[in-house]
Amino acid sequence: MSILVVGSVAYDGIETPFGKIDRILGGSATYISLTSSYFHDSLQLVGVVGKDFADSDLQRFKDKNIDLEGLQIDNSGKTFFWQGKYHFDLNNRDTLDTQLNVFEKFDPVIPESYKDASIVCLGNIAPALQGKVLDQISKPDLVILDTMNFWIEGAREDLNKTLERVNVLIINDSEARELSGEPNLVKAAEKIQAMGPSTLIIKKGEHGALLFTETGIFSAPAFPIIDIFDPTGAGDTFLGGFAGWLARSGDFSDDNLRRAVIYGSAMASFCVEKFGPERLLDLSATEISARYQEFRSLSAIPVQQDNVF
Ligand code: AMP
Repeated sequence: MSILVVGSVAYDGIETPFGKIDRILGGSATYISLTSSYFHDSLQLVGVVGKDFADSDLQRFKDKNIDLEGLQIDNSGKTFFWQGKYHFDLNNRDTLDTQLNVFEKFDPVIPESYKDASIVCLGNIAPALQGKVLDQISKPDLVILDTMNFWIEGAREDLNKTLERVNVLIINDSEARELSGEPNLVKAAEKIQAMGPSTLIIKKGEHGALLFTETGIFSAPAFPIIDIFDPTGAGDTFLGGFAGWLARSGDFSDDNLRRAVIYGSAMASFCVEKFGPERLLDLSATEISARYQEFRSLSAIPVQQDNVF
């Protein structure tokens, strides 16, 4: 089972209340693929970088055995650059600069060897491009899509068409409300599921995540223990852990989707501990499995034999 990841590969400038960095590796496809690589060894990356992309950053992907045949190197310009500054509470951020650079003309071309990918992760890019990727894939078992307010507001028609072809949609609570036009998240989920994705995950930042499937709702806890240093990429990292676990287990049942949500949350909780994707470069299997267990135990209720209520 292989995982195909499409999205931005970027340089980011990040400022949080705890520090500032002018330029660090970033982008949705970066976070998704680095994270999934801990779960599965057949990772395929499709994206574009410019002439300024450092060999040492390419090496970070190679060190995780991520296949880079689909990563275009466009020498006509520079790599996509994004700059953001977080507020004191870290829940909100201002985008200070977005330079599309080579990303502006990005045309995702899927190499022949990627076309039979089982799990397709469509990172946050224009919905029309996400659709173009799907046109080139033979018959994926699972298509997972991330999007944002920018596309919900600016490319609604394309997004609606792409959503019809998606199995799992991962968005945050404000995006779910905007996409459905419905303030109540349970009703919002019903409307969104009717648009195409039978599974919907609504991330609620520091308050955990909700999983809606055809058969029910699961609420994943937030992790109250860690010190958040930089939230950049947490959403993409969640997607990477979610997809990674599903690929590793090959099981898309409801119970296993719940486990995948916990793995996604566990990986996101690592991501925010350091700047950019730094923490995702040196994790161990022992750390991941311990964090998964900590997450599980956060909301596990021991079975009670003599329920007297
Ligand atoms: P997240 O914090 O999960 O929203 O993801 C942050 C990453 O998204 C950063 O590494 C940015 O490089 C990338 N990013 C920001 N804006 C865009 C955009 N318009 N298109 C694609 N990627 C973006």
